[in-house]
Amino acid sequence: MKPALTMNQAMAEAARCLLCHDAPCAAGCPASTAPDVFIRKLRFRNLKGAAKVIKERNVMGGVCAVVCPTCSLCAAGCTAAGLDEPIDIGALQRFIVEHAWEMGFSPLSAGKPNGLKVAIVGSGPAGLSCAAELARAGYQAMVFERLSAPGGMLRHAIPDHRLSPAFLERELEDIRALGVRFRLETAIRTQQDLDSLREQGFGAVFLATGAWRCATLDLPGRPREGVTDALTFLMGAKERPKELRHELAGKDVLVVGGGDTAMDAAVTASLAGARDVFILYRRSFAQMPGSPEEKTLAMDAGVHFMILTQPVGFETRGDRVTGLRVVRTRLGEPDSGGRRRPLPISGTEHSLPADLVVEAIGLSPDTSIREIRSLRTDEAGRIQVTAGQRAAADLPVFAGGDAVRGASVVAKAVCDGKAAAAAIRKELGR
Ligand SMILES: Cc1cc2nc3c(=O)[nH]c(=O)nc-3n(C[C@H](O)[C@H](O)[C@H](O)COP(=O)(O)OP(=O)(O)OC[C@H]3O[C@@H](n4cnc5c(N)ncnc54)[C@H](O)[C@@H]3O)c2cc1C
Repeated sequence: MKPALTMNQAMAEAARCLLCHDAPCAAGCPASTAPDVFIRKLRFRNLKGAAKVIKERNVMGGVCAVVCPTCSLCAAGCTAAGLDEPIDIGALQRFIVEHAWEMGFSPLSAGKPNGLKVAIVGSGPAGLSCAAELARAGYQAMVFERLSAPGGMLRHAIPDHRLSPAFLERELEDIRALGVRFRLETAIRTQQDLDSLREQGFGAVFLATGAWRCATLDLPGRPREGVTDALTFLMGAKERPKELRHELAGKDVLVVGGGDTAMDAAVTASLAGARDVFILYRRSFAQMPGSPEEKTLAMDAGVHFMILTQPVGFETRGDRVTGLRVVRTRLGEPDSGGRRRPLPISGTEHSLPADLVVEAIGLSPDTSIREIRSLRTDEAGRIQVTAGQRAAADLPVFAGGDAVRGASVVAKAVCDGKAAAAAIRKELGR
């Protein structure tokens, strides 16, 4: 991970804050972490007060400090940007949270037990923030997770060079200290599973199962070997880093896609020792959905960007990929989403050799959860909710995070987890 700020650096950065009366930074944080309030407290060296503000509003305040794309959230409206650089809100937030950990200061405590149990399905930031909010209100919060370790994308997909497992584990410790319990390797998918939870005395359920289904290239001649989706690649890199270094040494990798997942896959391949790593994107550099921070990381890691280039087929030898057949594109009229459409340029088709092709062209929610009665999903598999994150009208079932929004960001998952906890408390009357 990037080095943390020292006390002197943090105080100097906080001193640049203009303490705006209308605090655009606060309005830009989906998790309502109140950067205006915690920076003011830091300015007056009230470090415990600053840590309390962050953690009380956002139990994932440490992780958000590290991974949030701040330039499109809190720092987007920073008034200091008019004079100089925007305030590095993420770095200040991380400094405060880590300082509290070093001092052994825990701003949060469990509420007086109220005897009510809530089941949370999925241990990503949405599930964790819902569970922590409920535990603070005295509920027994049980998190059901199909995988063998909690954390969702934070643990299994975001690469260690951006979010270290030890940092995530420290934040999870704060949540466990509130009495939140985990039942790992336990999937909840069907109406029968929900009925069983009800029989076990759970009064409400929060579905926070994320978006784990990877889109694949719809091209002819897909080979069995040498093509993988980005999540499989990133999870493998975290679980078996040595094997990946061995597999990629001296090899060329093509990553198809232009979002944060594509950047993470490309940087991971580069750091694992691949010879050349290319990002292949069919629109322009400016249209790439990846955050500026992630694009910079990829450029720093030596990743090559092949923009305005679109794959049209696989090149293979036997069952193995040897590259992609691609065509150059130009930008045409805007599509329904307002982005200019990529149009193939005839006569520009050519081959790009590669030993591995990684598909990073989109994530959507897993559709298996549809088996729950009265739960509605749209054509993209996203669970439909009404106000207060309510997902099933005839059952106390709520939903949030990527399972509802589609692939999004951590701070929005935290926002949904908090909103669901508030709605569950209203529903159950405590
Ligand atoms: C490679 C990558 C990099 C990213 N980088 C960033 C970043 O830098 N900054 C940022 O803000 N966001 C980033 N994101 C997005 C962010 O990680 C997600 O928006 C966020 O994790 C969504 O939180 P969630 O709780 O909704 O779901 P998830 O984090 O996906 O967690 C869902 C959990 O539910 C579990 N689950 C699924 N189905 C079941 C079931 N039936 N029963 C039990 N458990 C189940 C899953 O195993 C998982 O643990 C990134 C995403 C990816 C893929």
